[in-house]
Amino acid sequence: MTTCASLSADHLMPLHEGVIYGPIASRRLGTSLGVNLLPPRRKICTFNCLYCQYGWTAPPAAQVEAAWPSVTEVIEATSAALASARAHGTVIDRMTLAGHGEPTLHPDFPEVVAALRELRDREAPRVRLAILSNATTIDRARIRQALLDLDERFLKLDGGDADTLRHVNAAAVDVERLITSLSSLRPIVVQTMLVRDCEGIIDNTTPAARASYLAAIARIAPASVHIYTLARTPALARLEPAPAEALHACADGVRALGIEARVFG
Ligand code: SF4
Repeated sequence: MTTCASLSADHLMPLHEGVIYGPIASRRLGTSLGVNLLPPRRKICTFNCLYCQYGWTAPPAAQVEAAWPSVTEVIEATSAALASARAHGTVIDRMTLAGHGEPTLHPDFPEVVAALRELRDREAPRVRLAILSNATTIDRARIRQALLDLDERFLKLDGGDADTLRHVNAAAVDVERLITSLSSLRPIVVQTMLVRDCEGIIDNTTPAARASYLAAIARIAPASVHIYTLARTPALARLEPAPAEALHACADGVRALGIEARVFG
């Protein structure tokens, strides 16, 4: 039996205490002001990705009693962060809805987006409003419309078949519905994490996984695909980064479809 090296959960990213984190110097997003719509110190998500830098998703009982930030709290915190950035001469490229979980699960997500747009237009008109989402809620009409009101949508797809998504995202996903939803929301950037474990149980870089993934990408026809691998400690400690060759092989497959692909190794 293979013995896997593993990292302690002590190295996970701490959950956020409030709405704002950063600004962060991001390889993909430039200088990004993180906006966490999730309850403080409570990871709530429709996925439980093995690679999640925030650790495991809270069990359903812990999600029910969570205290989500109000629209007013989100706007006040974001406005204060923008004022602080201005005072320090920091140029923000993006305000990014992300945080420790799935931002579209906020009960007032459309209202939050509308208020953030107003704030951005008034106080920081050159800053782009973006989201990182796992795309599992985008078939809901009110969520779709709010997503379209943002400037940029970075949506997750780590595989093109149910088995791969069950292994990597630890969720029972209706993959056909997910692909159909993604293909009808434009423009989007698809973000894809490639990982494997040393036992060969989890691996979304195999030829079979890549073939179903590329078939999905061909249907979705995103504006661009961002491919990357582990850069931080994952929830499942024995998970390993995918090798550079696997990232580039995937990107080459995407480009062969006539779609831009960028690798962040
Ligand atoms: S979708 Fe994002 S927040 Fe949710 S478990 Fe996966 S990596 Fe973590």
